Amino acid sequence: MRLLFQRLVSAPQAKHTRNPAKRVIPIAVLPLLLAAVLPILAALYLADRQTRQDEIAYLETLADETLRRGINSRMQLVQALEAMKREPSTPCSPANLERMRQISAVSLHLRGMGVIQDGQLRCSTLSASPRPEAIDGKRFVTATGIEAWTDARLPFAPEQPFNIYARHGYATIIHPEVILDIPRKSPDIVIGLVISNPKTVTRERGKVLPAWLERYTPHQSAVIDDGTHLVVFKASKEHNIAGVAASLKSGIHRSVWRTALFLVPIGLFGSALFGYAVVVLTRWGLSVPAQLREALKRHDMYVRYQPIVDMRTGRWIGAEALLRWQKPDGTHVPPDEFIASAEKVGLIQDVTRYVTDIVLRDLPTLLKIQPGFHVSINFSALDMQEGGPIDYLRERLHRLQIPPETLIVELTERGLFDMAQTQPLLEAVQAMGVRVAIDDFGTGYSSLSVLESCKLDIIKIDKLFVAAIGTQAANSPVTTHIISMAQKLGIELVAEGVETQAQADFLRDSGVQYAQGWLYARPMAIEELRFKLRPMPI
Ligand code: C2E
Ligand code: CA
Ligand code: CA
Repeated sequence: MRLLFQRLVSAPQAKHTRNPAKRVIPIAVLPLLLAAVLPILAALYLADRQTRQDEIAYLETLADETLRRGINSRMQLVQALEAMKREPSTPCSPANLERMRQISAVSLHLRGMGVIQDGQLRCSTLSASPRPEAIDGKRFVTATGIEAWTDARLPFAPEQPFNIYARHGYATIIHPEVILDIPRKSPDIVIGLVISNPKTVTRERGKVLPAWLERYTPHQSAVIDDGTHLVVFKASKEHNIAGVAASLKSGIHRSVWRTALFLVPIGLFGSALFGYAVVVLTRWGLSVPAQLREALKRHDMYVRYQPIVDMRTGRWIGAEALLRWQKPDGTHVPPDEFIASAEKVGLIQDVTRYVTDIVLRDLPTLLKIQPGFHVSINFSALDMQEGGPIDYLRERLHRLQIPPETLIVELTERGLFDMAQTQPLLEAVQAMGVRVAIDDFGTGYSSLSVLESCKLDIIKIDKLFVAAIGTQAANSPVTTHIISMAQKLGIELVAEGVETQAQADFLRDSGVQYAQGWLYARPMAIEELRFKLRPMPI
């Protein structure tokens, strides 16, 4: 029996306890995905751009330094050649060689000098050979009229390539790597010095590719991206040379990935936090009106019925509909709280219509079991307005063909303070055959005047007075006064919050016929109420 009962009761509850997060998650998926992906993409994009800019700036300093050293080297060799042009001694004479040695010694860049004739070194400061030595290398003439050899091999050191620059019959011999002795962050980085016209690489560390030279416009600094390399040319305006530096783009990508490896976990963590916040905000951060509207829409609010008992017979003659709100996380919001919120944000009429709908849906099934049963609905003072829930109730009762005397509208005493406005509406309720109960009676200040000015059907004695029974205030004059006045006016009395038999006995002996309270029953689901109203099989 108990099992059957539990099943009956638990079925409709499942509707209220389903996990609403399921609905929230699809709404949150898009922001969550965006939250996860966007910061990472943005971080990677920024990291890529930043790394590229940093790399270009780094290559620019290398190319600049190479050019600066190249210009120094060039000035020294031009000065040396000019100095020898003015030299009065006979070429290759001991004095002449001595002079070239002196000039080479004081120069940072010159390894030696020599006298050049028909493309051969007739004599040089580096060799004692009496015979002219052929220069084996790549020969060209610069736009400024200097005859030059790169990768030149001399018989005394065939393994060592030199650069040779000659003018006025004299040659300077230069170690091509001297100016390239620049520290680089990676050996993959190419640096070099090029002659702008004709475009020729004179010194390089790594390989300055011909394709880069092709895209280089003489005397114009430039950044070239050939797909695999970033190449920076720094050109001199006055001198016919340019420094070049290049690095592999794969190195940049590696560095971006390193940054990404560092950023992605941070991004993911940030996204997770953000996503969590989105979910939390979506679920809980809604404003009170939005939460209430959502609760009504999703039927997170439901009604519990608390029986009203005839104390003389113990029979359940009616029940009060009490609204409940269970939030999606399972927590219950006390009705006092959400009713006050609904009143504050102007949603109370929606709440009352919602309860009315449920009660009018449930009532016929109760009447079938126990004809004459009645259900009370709590109305707020704000419901007592024209066009509000009263009209709604009238229209629904009519349409559903429900006997109006089976309904009671409960109004708190506090809600009746503006009698001038409320009285016509109270009368309108009674005119449709629905009874009016005054709730929490005794807690307001207008009790007597209210009773005198309008004909109420029922008074609900507030549980404060009931709780006082059995204490010192047991025979509170207020309680007895309320009772005698109600009897005199022919108003029915319902005592609220009856928890003990002593309270029940006292009330009954004092002439109160009906009671509501935990002594008899707690608020319950409609299924339980129906079940308990059913006549017991004999
Ligand atoms: P109320 O209209 O005075 O309702 C009676 C309250 O007393 C209910 O509290 C009920 O659960 C509680 N109660 C019943 N028997 C006992 C008892 O023996 N001892 C004690 N201590 N309490 C008992 P509940 O359900 O928490 O509702 C609180 C208030 O919220 C209601 O007071 C009513 O003013 C308001 N409320 C509830 N449902 C609605 C509604 O649908 N519309 C409006 N406007 N107000 C509602
Ligand atoms: Ca009530
Ligand atoms: Ca009450």
